[in-house]
Amino acid sequence: MRKNIVAGNWKMNLGYEEGVSLFSEIVNMVKDEVIGNQEVVVCSPFIHLSSIAKLSASVPNVHIGAQNIHQAESGAYTGEVSASQVKSVGAQYVILGHSERRAYFGETDALLAEKLNAALKHGLKPIFCIGETKEERESGRFFDVIKTQLEAGVFHLGQDDFASVVLAYEPVWAIGTGLTASPEEAQEVHAFIRETIAQQYGAEVADATTILYGGSANPSNASTLFAQKDIDGGLIGGASLKSRDFLEIVKVFN
Ligand code: PEP
Repeated sequence: MRKNIVAGNWKMNLGYEEGVSLFSEIVNMVKDEVIGNQEVVVCSPFIHLSSIAKLSASVPNVHIGAQNIHQAESGAYTGEVSASQVKSVGAQYVILGHSERRAYFGETDALLAEKLNAALKHGLKPIFCIGETKEERESGRFFDVIKTQLEAGVFHLGQDDFASVVLAYEPVWAIGTGLTASPEEAQEVHAFIRETIAQQYGAEVADATTILYGGSANPSNASTLFAQKDIDGGLIGGASLKSRDFLEIVKVFN
């Protein structure tokens, strides 16, 4: 049975003290709510990772992650952070391929494939984001765009490595805009992603893959989105910065 995951993406928000205090609040609120086959993941800026890893250590099913890594092992890459460094502070996850990194930092499918390899080599579970822009949705090309992102970024992996990957469908037009894909629109793409995985790795692997929805998810729309058969949770931006809202989203699976 595949995992349900609610993952927060804090992006470039919160000073050190603010982040540690929000994480403590989240841990206290969710620790009795994360039940069964569910995980909560908080992806913070690098500055918080080491401290929040300690706070999460004793709470089952609450994990932390980074929002990016560099693809190289180590070396003269001023300002960058490697997969092994992220792993060494106790993170289990890393977001890769977020549309903000694709758009503002020129991250291509080929580069993301290298980052994915680096993450897996060091035992980090990637939350790999895919999704179409507004123009791609309106022109009806979105299935092709998503298939290409999977083929060029992810499908070089063998089946064992692929089993550690969580996918996140994040329509770019819905991220931070207040516009959400309708449950039917999101389900249609999630089913397409699962079918595309089945063609590559077989139906059993596809069935075991966790596929999250991201894009202006909040306490009011999370339950109808997560009720869709191929939506296994969410990657939550804005609403993950408010502990009450995040808790409400986590509780959808109870
Ligand atoms: C995100 O950044 O991954 C995201 C989904 O943001 P928001 O929930 O704010 O749209």
